[in-house]
Amino acid sequence: MIPYSRQSISPEDIEAVVEALRSDFLTQGPLPGKFEAALAAYCGSAHAVAVSHGTAALHLACAALGLGPGDLLWTSAITFVASANCGRYCGAKVDFVDVDPASGLIDIGALAAKLQAAERDGRVPDVLVPVHFAGQCCDLVAIHDLARRYGFRVIEDSCHALGARHRGAAAGSCRWSDMSVFSFHPVKSITTGEGGAVTTNDAALAARLRLLASHGITRDPALLEQRDQGGWYGEQVALGWNYRITDLQAALGLSQLQRVDRMIQARRDRAARYHAALASLPLALPRHEPHDESAWHLYVVQLASAGLRRRVYEALRADGIGVQVHYLPVHLQPYYRRLGFGPGDFPAAEAFYHGALSLPLHPALMQEDQDRVIASLARAVGARRQSGTHTE
Ligand SMILES: *Cc1c(COP(=O)(O)O)cnc(C)c1O
Repeated sequence: MIPYSRQSISPEDIEAVVEALRSDFLTQGPLPGKFEAALAAYCGSAHAVAVSHGTAALHLACAALGLGPGDLLWTSAITFVASANCGRYCGAKVDFVDVDPASGLIDIGALAAKLQAAERDGRVPDVLVPVHFAGQCCDLVAIHDLARRYGFRVIEDSCHALGARHRGAAAGSCRWSDMSVFSFHPVKSITTGEGGAVTTNDAALAARLRLLASHGITRDPALLEQRDQGGWYGEQVALGWNYRITDLQAALGLSQLQRVDRMIQARRDRAARYHAALASLPLALPRHEPHDESAWHLYVVQLASAGLRRRVYEALRADGIGVQVHYLPVHLQPYYRRLGFGPGDFPAAEAFYHGALSLPLHPALMQEDQDRVIASLARAVGARRQSGTHTE
């Protein structure tokens, strides 16, 4: 099966992890801090806090803002469930914003209209989690303007977007947001096995994230609430979690980060190749804003109907091609239906889901495998492939 995505592991990555294994520390040694410094430098943010998962990073980001019962978090209807669950972990209510049917990104017009209505009802969200779906950044300037006008905080879900740039700024720079969250799951731009991070330019938020990622225990003299009783002394001053990243993971992340730009370029090259080869097929190609630089996490084509999408999915799977669907709109998950959501609530997201199919895309996707995907897709949508079109 040609997978829709997979990690790319170099001999240097393996060497780096082996070296960490031979060192004095498997966890809480020097490597997480080095990884954080490298990540902050890459993103152009003042701080980065590396943790155990992207989901943990989202949870911490919400907790660091003090999100709690009675509060409200909005996110995009087209995303991985973690973008919404982080609000629920804090006891907050969650609601969704519909998407632009062409891109799958949060629809700024729908967001503005929903905010206007929410203001009338006195239910403006405390936190918005815009999602850089497929590696393409949302319109962060528009979101920032709305955040200032309505007074909500912005946590970017950048789990697809490490390596993307928006208006000249790297994803994670937090130029227009409070925090930006990354995942280092093996299908993402870089991997640490499992792992995640939060970037921010706010020193107080960074300190709070660190505290909450390690049980709420601190040794920082400035944070101690009782008398310092000696060198051993630390205090739990808040209820945190164990969301720490290990030195083994940080070693892999540091090594991967050194070639992230090459890996993103490899994704871009493969996306461009799909564009050229699929242009004449009866389906809609993903159009990522040409003036931005997408990280091309996913290559999502749109088929004309749910029935056709299902037939094409099954035909490609039968051909050994691991196509995927991103995503079942979060409000249609049974857990969220039980909270009162249902079909018809976010029609553009539902339409996007019905037509969406993610083709294999990752830095190590071989040209002959990509040709197999293209040929199989052309057969499945019933298009005759012109001979010679895809030979190079
Ligand atoms: C991968 C992903 C997450 C969660 O990251 P994990 O590291 O798997 O916990 C959150 N949001 C989005 C959009 C993702 O793609």
